Amino acid sequence: MSVQYENLETKVIHAGEPRPRIGGAVSLPIFQSAMFEYAGETDYHDLKYIRLNNTPNHTALHEKLAALENAEAALVAGSGMAAISTTLFSVLSKGDHLLVQNCLYGGTHDFITKDLPAFGMTYNFIDGDAPEEWEKYLTPSTKAIYVETMTNPLLQIADLKAVVEFARHCDLVSIIDNTFASPVNFRPPEYGFDLSLHSCTKYLNGHSDIVAGAIIGKADLVNAVKLKLDHFGGTLDPHACSLLHRGVKTLALRVKFQNESALKIARFLNEHSAIDKVNYPGLESHPNFERAKDLFDGFSGMLSFELKNGLGAADRFISKVKLPVIAPSLGGVETLLTRPTTTSHRGMSAEDREKIGITDSLIRVSVGIESTEDIIDDFENALK
Ligand code: PLP
Repeated sequence: MSVQYENLETKVIHAGEPRPRIGGAVSLPIFQSAMFEYAGETDYHDLKYIRLNNTPNHTALHEKLAALENAEAALVAGSGMAAISTTLFSVLSKGDHLLVQNCLYGGTHDFITKDLPAFGMTYNFIDGDAPEEWEKYLTPSTKAIYVETMTNPLLQIADLKAVVEFARHCDLVSIIDNTFASPVNFRPPEYGFDLSLHSCTKYLNGHSDIVAGAIIGKADLVNAVKLKLDHFGGTLDPHACSLLHRGVKTLALRVKFQNESALKIARFLNEHSAIDKVNYPGLESHPNFERAKDLFDGFSGMLSFELKNGLGAADRFISKVKLPVIAPSLGGVETLLTRPTTTSHRGMSAEDREKIGITDSLIRVSVGIESTEDIIDDFENALK
């Protein structure tokens, strides 16, 4: 039986580590072997083979990630999109219908709107803040409801408790993309979500050097996703598993610092005369501030903002900052800046973006672990 740990700071270090340690190794070695000796397994999915997601590097991570969200089970995948697409293909079949939040990571939006229909699945967008409207979109074929903990890039927070209640009442699978919050700030299974998905490319790994994904939640559902992942082949290589494993060990330290730093940066921007609007759930002016306070242990390291003079000013600001790297993605140790319409949300039509309020001049910041003071000074100079 595996040891149970109380606090997340201890779990990131000790949960899932093999007991006894393999060859006494303090750090789990990388099992870079495609296949392992046949040991009498009777089920295809139990054969020891990298694609079947069951090397020692996989199983240690599965146990650690499940422990972080107090969930029954976890599974890693080759990318966040592998986790999302395989989950949706596992929960939905031809003819099924999905309710999905209207503001989403661009890749998820494109997958749902362009790929799902080609496989005979349908969807309706819902406003995460208007539970009273959701019922009207239900059909006899509705099987699941899908939301993000904090929407990318506007940092809106849906009525997450209502999502779980609605799913239970209507017998739907509740799925949440918890990438932006990370398990440090929010653990969806504790609130009754069936499946919590991550792009581990972001906070869980934290070092901008791999792509990876995770599915965390109820054991039967996670196992159903594993069977699909075994067939689709979107597995995580053991070497990448090892990098992710190492990254997770500093998750709590990184994210707590990023929470604090982002709050200070958001407050600075909010008071600056050149800024029109800051989207950060830790600001009292944010429409979902009370909800964020109620649900989360921290407000995240992500924020977005608009300058008063629109696109020209946004481009000038981006060209003037010296410390942040101008790049898509998020959750790493270096501060990253991007205009989502040029990167993460480029695949969405301009019309769709406009409908949900993603403007061309919106700048998204993923706060790293540099000195907060240095980042604020850099922003201040660029704004001048
Ligand atoms: N979910 C969110 C919220 C994201 O921001 C991203 C990528 O930016 C993904 C999922 C997809 O993850 P990956 O790039 O690891 O496939």
